[in-house]
Amino acid sequence: MTTSRLKNRVNDEKKRPKALVLFSGGLDSLLAVKLIQDQGVDVEAVNFVTPFCLCDRCSVNRFSEELKIKVHRVFLGQEFLEVVSNTPHGYGSQMNPCVDCRILMFRKAKEIAEKIGADFLVTGEVLDERPFSQRRKTMLLIEKEAGLEGKILRPLSAKLLPETEAEKTGLVDRSKLLAIRGRRRLPQMELADKLGLKEYPNPSGGCLLTDPEFARKLKDHLKNEGRLTLTDVTLLKTGRHFRVDKAKIIVGRNKKENDRLLHIAKTQGFSYLEVANYKGPVTLCIGDTTRKMLKKAAEITARYADAPKDVPVKITCVNGETKEIITVKAIKDGELEKLRV
Ligand code: SF4
Repeated sequence: MTTSRLKNRVNDEKKRPKALVLFSGGLDSLLAVKLIQDQGVDVEAVNFVTPFCLCDRCSVNRFSEELKIKVHRVFLGQEFLEVVSNTPHGYGSQMNPCVDCRILMFRKAKEIAEKIGADFLVTGEVLDERPFSQRRKTMLLIEKEAGLEGKILRPLSAKLLPETEAEKTGLVDRSKLLAIRGRRRLPQMELADKLGLKEYPNPSGGCLLTDPEFARKLKDHLKNEGRLTLTDVTLLKTGRHFRVDKAKIIVGRNKKENDRLLHIAKTQGFSYLEVANYKGPVTLCIGDTTRKMLKKAAEITARYADAPKDVPVKITCVNGETKEIITVKAIKDGELEKLRV
């Protein structure tokens, strides 16, 4: 990835240039791969997965096979959570720390590029497609902070951006690169047609951090707990969330969630509640399990039990070594909504 290595590549006519593409499996990264392959560049890809990914793994597998590219899958776990809870460049419209997320991904990609002997990096980024992370100034800042100035080629918008080292040294022909800009997807769809891509993934894909409902829960969590673990993320993705004073109450919405909550409660030693005399949810309690809080959790649990309205419901409450049954009436909807996160 050094300039001298780039020059060596040019001098060594036997070797084809090699690029590492940041590959999400979405249309833009697919087009970037095609455009760069069409210039005689060998391509490998890296696909980053975060705990918040809603991405379609099948699409990554299918298109990597179709394009005949090797994909390095990288899971960004606790390291990514640190970025989410402490983001130097701030959040986008929700809890998405896109700038710091991209810096982290590029730093990781740089390590892989060094290992596989790639000459430069490629992304499917389109100038001004995303307001937070794909403005010209921000893209160049991300590059700089990742230690990759001039080494990231964005074939879809290259002609609108400064010339990269790969273009300067002739590894790729700038005249064949594009000048797509903005949020309209039409140019990409037309290009897909032109390149013979009949089927391609839906542009939506996604990241839970941009979802307003999830962002609200995450914000509440960080405000109250101040730290974020992988178990926290699993819990944030599970159930209905309520806050009583400093404690969190999570109520399962279906069997899968109830099983998950029960498993976490038993393995991590959290207090939990179940409906004793009707069908109903599992409820997990995190934080100070005072009598007041457990009673409120029981009333909330009763609200979601399959019991007739206003009938007292028996709730089994497991708190450490103590197991007791308490009888409560379901919480009223008005009060419930005030506690909802
Ligand atoms: S949307 Fe999510 S995955 Fe994408 S750059 Fe932003 S934080 Fe990272």
